Amino acid sequence: MTTPLLEVDGLTRHFVARRSLLGHPTALVKAVDGVSFTLAAGKTLAVVGESGCGKSTLCRLVLRLLDPTSGRIRFEGRDVTALSERELGPLRRNAQLIFQDPYSSLNPRLTVGQTLAEPLALHDVVPRSRRGARVAELLELVGLDPRVARRYPHEFSGGQRQRIAIARALAVEPKLVVCDEPVSALDVSIRAQVLNLLRDLQRRLGLAYIFISHDLAVVRHIADSIAVMNFGQIVEIGANESLFANPRHPYSRALLSAIPVPKPGVKRERTVLRGEMPNALHPPPGCRFHTRCPFAIARCESEQPELIGAPHATACHRVEELPPAASLIPREGDRAPSLERLVNAFRRRPDGQGSAGLDKVQTGGVAGASAARLQ
Ligand code: SF4
Repeated sequence: MTTPLLEVDGLTRHFVARRSLLGHPTALVKAVDGVSFTLAAGKTLAVVGESGCGKSTLCRLVLRLLDPTSGRIRFEGRDVTALSERELGPLRRNAQLIFQDPYSSLNPRLTVGQTLAEPLALHDVVPRSRRGARVAELLELVGLDPRVARRYPHEFSGGQRQRIAIARALAVEPKLVVCDEPVSALDVSIRAQVLNLLRDLQRRLGLAYIFISHDLAVVRHIADSIAVMNFGQIVEIGANESLFANPRHPYSRALLSAIPVPKPGVKRERTVLRGEMPNALHPPPGCRFHTRCPFAIARCESEQPELIGAPHATACHRVEELPPAASLIPREGDRAPSLERLVNAFRRRPDGQGSAGLDKVQTGGVAGASAARLQ
């Protein structure tokens, strides 16, 4: 059996929210609480859930930007959980992060060329004499004209900045890229282009992605498997097709039923969650979803369900009894025109190029049809 690229086992991270006068912790927030999953090379795991469910903390733990409270992280079979900062060098190079906001993630004082040369020098990826050429290659790789290397971030649109951020992440030739809501700050018309670029790069370079998103329509098109998080725990995990065709956990059903896809007039039953999100300092006992779950019974208030089943696993006491959920994959004819355009944007052209992925984007005075289309 091949070793997965990444194995996460029982990972937890607790933050101290309050201390006594003597400095002892008196209140903890369990931001990530017993999370396990594996990710194979070249695959994408999407992590979805509401704000504050712990998905961003999970990603920072995986990258060892935060220290876990307990649990294990293995990268290519090697335990990296307790490595010192000095020993983390290879992981830092092999696992990179793309931030949500391309406006604040680039240093405004550095040109694009300097931004891309920085990680090349830090990790000694290529000799100094080759850095200029490597910067040009990276810009071409993400569909930008190499001549833009002399420009500053403020001279670019949001989509172009995100391409630069992707090029910076790829400079060190990583095997895993964690994408923290990489398109949510972008205009809707640009999202498909950046997503197509990520998919093209995955195909060409064999990258694995952990893709954090609250936008399930985006996740549907990019993920191989999906983990649904609630209150620091994975409540359902499975292959993309399986989870969208047959969501089992009531929380997944509520999240997925909220995707605004049908045409006006085409009705889909929407699950509306009752109640407020519980206080993170005082999560409810038993199943943490029970205060909002329409199917909760007395057992749910006292006994925490385990994540059971493979390859499609669910943490719910009543998973076998619940009525089957309607498939949440919209039929062709039920798609709204705007969704149809988005889906078409994801389709590959007959010449094998992505609809936006690796076409070259030129800027400023370098005119061209693709420059007008792609931002
Ligand atoms: Fe709802 Fe109970 Fe299942 Fe939790 S365990 S999701 S409360 S039915």
